[in-house]
Amino acid sequence: MRVAVYSNHTKESNKVTNQINQGLKENNIEIDDRAPDIVLTIGGDGTLLSAFHHYREQLEHVRFVGIHTGHLGFYTDWRDYEVDKLIDSLKQDNGQRVSYPLVDVDIKYTDGTKEHFVALNESTIKKIENTMVCDIYIKGQLFERFRGDGLCISTPTGSTGYNKSIGGAVIDPSLLGIQLGEIASINNRVFRTLGSPIIVGQDQYLDLKLRTVDQLIVSCDQYQAHGLNEKRLIDSIHYQISARQIYFARYRHTNFWERVDEAFIGGAK
Ligand code: NAP
Repeated sequence: MRVAVYSNHTKESNKVTNQINQGLKENNIEIDDRAPDIVLTIGGDGTLLSAFHHYREQLEHVRFVGIHTGHLGFYTDWRDYEVDKLIDSLKQDNGQRVSYPLVDVDIKYTDGTKEHFVALNESTIKKIENTMVCDIYIKGQLFERFRGDGLCISTPTGSTGYNKSIGGAVIDPSLLGIQLGEIASINNRVFRTLGSPIIVGQDQYLDLKLRTVDQLIVSCDQYQAHGLNEKRLIDSIHYQISARQIYFARYRHTNFWERVDEAFIGGAK
């Protein structure tokens, strides 16, 4: 087994990285950052997202394991004081894994060029100045004309991220679908959208046909897929559940709803 260690290089993470590297060496587990079987991330959910993008060309072969140096995260099952237990689990690894869906993001520009991206949490499209206007198609059929600040298209595991902050539903990660959330839509007697998030299933797809093409930013997780310096203008964006998935090495079961409770409700009961 070849293991890569991917850290956010804070003081705490550097300490854990040293412990991990030592544990791997002592147990003759090969460290290989180029073509790993397992990627151990040390930091938070943000670090896992960053590692996902770093290894996105190798998703079919790689399994991720997240160690959180703070509170427990949504992609990070292990705490920094559990390094020994984790090394034991690596030694007993039998390829066990769990997969989660990703969203494909295909941007078509007005000059006919295209770009492909993939997101683990979400992709957002926002207009920096004035109102963004776009037609939303569900499986090729016009659903509504959106006017507002922007839209967020999230995966089930991304539903607890940005999606939640804009009033989206938290989705059980065993469900396959993508959620479309509105960011400050204009709703009055003249302009109307559904006004609530929608979730489409695995066999559906979304197309956003832009009616305003300037001052747009498109994100994929924490990265910009389209920034303000881009000269090309966006014609449309296609979103669908990706044929690819992210795999996590599942050495122990963690209950998703307990984690939601812990992260967002905690002692408030
Ligand atoms: P960031 O400031 O590094 O992270 C924002 C927070 O979101 C961090 O506390 C991070 O956890 C947490 N997070 C990331 N993925 C999550 C998930 N699936 N469920 C619950 N919490 C999650 O932001 P960034 O690096 O620019 O963007 C990373 C992600 O953060 C984005 O994909 C987005 O989902 C989320 N985000 C949310 C907001 C918002 O709610 N207004 C704004 C920006 C970004 P850790 O501390 O464990 O890393």
